[in-house]
Amino acid sequence: MNIHEYQAKDVLRAFGTPVPRGIAVFSVDEAVAAAEQLGGPVWVVKAQIHAGGRGKGGGVKVVKSLQEVRKEAERMLGMTLVTHQTGPHGRVVRRLYIEDGSAIARELYLSALVDRTASRVAFIASTEGGMDIEAVAKETPDKIQTFTVDPAAGYSRYVGLEIATALRLKGEQAKQCGTLIETLYGAFLAKDMSLLEINPLVVTKDGQVVCLDAKINFDDNALFRHRDIAELRDPDEEDPMEREAAKYDLSYVKLDGSIGCMVNGAGLAMATMDIIKLYGEEPANFLDVGGGASKEKVTAAFKIILSDPNVKGILVNIFGGIMRCDIIAEGIIAAAHEVSLSVPLVVRLEGTNVEQGKAILAKSGLSIVSGSDLADAAQKIVAAVRSPQQ
Ligand code: ADP
Ligand code: MG
Repeated sequence: MNIHEYQAKDVLRAFGTPVPRGIAVFSVDEAVAAAEQLGGPVWVVKAQIHAGGRGKGGGVKVVKSLQEVRKEAERMLGMTLVTHQTGPHGRVVRRLYIEDGSAIARELYLSALVDRTASRVAFIASTEGGMDIEAVAKETPDKIQTFTVDPAAGYSRYVGLEIATALRLKGEQAKQCGTLIETLYGAFLAKDMSLLEINPLVVTKDGQVVCLDAKINFDDNALFRHRDIAELRDPDEEDPMEREAAKYDLSYVKLDGSIGCMVNGAGLAMATMDIIKLYGEEPANFLDVGGGASKEKVTAAFKIILSDPNVKGILVNIFGGIMRCDIIAEGIIAAAHEVSLSVPLVVRLEGTNVEQGKAILAKSGLSIVSGSDLADAAQKIVAAVRSPQQ
């Protein structure tokens, strides 16, 4: 799960991490009132969307008067902000963060993530902060350094010092940086984060080390033990269908093609998408109904797939392992009745009780086309969406 910058800063502030003062607002008048309360003389008006690169897209403005705060708030609220992370459709700005402006001497990059290879939390540091870190990684990879924390030993000042050195910080700033990293590490573990990115981490002209931006990603599997974090979810930032899918424990990602896919198992779902492409069409989604594909799940999956107006046909590709094919066939029929299926449906079943499953589908009276194997099923659904009248 992702949260907004201002929420991320609130989380970090609670762990003692230095972040500028700021107030989140939803209207122009609130923005001006927030700026008055902060006092100035320099403010930053920041669009809150779940994507970075806002600065370049006009979503971060440093201003020096209340009139300018008003002007920028009017401009940003309701705008569709397009950045390299939002995709071409952009995101509508509904919230702003009014923040104290910092006088920046240096912009650095610092992030923490779970390094699966090392089985540790890794910090990534670079002196090239404030810009697109992917570009830095590509063009000057030697300017990015990685440090891991041994979970058995825990955080040590030594790691903090090493990172400070990599960031070319000395004396008082190195000390501040070490303490700051210790708070980040504590927050990362305590809140089950999967990514914490501070870009930029800055040194101000008066020598303070401060987090000017903060992006946090939480491990969804641990959200149940962080109710405070789960409450920060912003439905406006999520795809409504992906949200609906999450309710039924379905892994769903909407795509742009015309063939809806219902598959059990992520690997099989990937293979199904590949084979649709191989035969010349595009998948409308990735959808993994999981190991226990119950009738309720299958019905919910059909509804979600059919709510996408681009879907011209559905390919069901299920391997009956734990779940028997006859049960799955019954689930498909029940679901097809419930959602009054309006597009061609090709089903490929394989595994335990496959013959019974196929017989149940054949006897159902529904116009379900059976695929003998994955290639056959993919060819049949591609043919069906290309000539829907047949
Ligand atoms: P994004 O990464 O989405 O572009 P940032 O929060 O990193 O958004 O802001 C972009 C840039 O704006 C920063 O690199 C920094 O130069 C400037 N900036 C952001 N917040 C402040 C602030 N509080 N004071 C001064 N400058 C800021
Ligand atoms: Mg940033």
